[in-house]
Amino acid sequence: MGFRRILIAVDSEPIAARAADTGIELAKALGAEVALIHVVDTSVALGGDTGIPPNVLIAEAEREGKKLVAGFRERLSLPASTLQFVQSGSPPGEIVKAATEWAADLIVIGSHGRAGLRRALVGSVAEGVMRHAPCPVLVTRAKN
Ligand code: AMP
Repeated sequence: MGFRRILIAVDSEPIAARAADTGIELAKALGAEVALIHVVDTSVALGGDTGIPPNVLIAEAEREGKKLVAGFRERLSLPASTLQFVQSGSPPGEIVKAATEWAADLIVIGSHGRAGLRRALVGSVAEGVMRHAPCPVLVTRAKN
């Protein structure tokens, strides 16, 4: 199987930068195309009681998400034509959907390595993606 398309999932945590570096290094070595994805987690916007309408919160988070992805693109010196997906919904679900629609050959994602109660409460994006991904998933750990 050739790895021609690599989808890198990014959020604002430092471990995502590590995943992005790994994905880019691999893409360069393989001559693969790269796309970046960030998902605005709508459950966070809909779950709080800030008094701000959810659609306003989501629109603001989408603006921030676009800035985040553009920042990654610049930091990684990727061309302006690089595909950048900013979706709203459940992060694992939207990452799997984008990987399927774009026909990614590999997803690169970070892992906080959360354990125990915290993982049970917050869930793991990496785990959700691994369970449903249409292609192999490369997970980079915080410390290794
Ligand atoms: P987590 O499961 O929250 O510890 O996140 C693990 C990894 O999943 C992160 O390092 C990112 O690569 C990816 N990730 C988490 N949240 C998002 C998100 N909202 N959008 C895109 N990727 C994400």
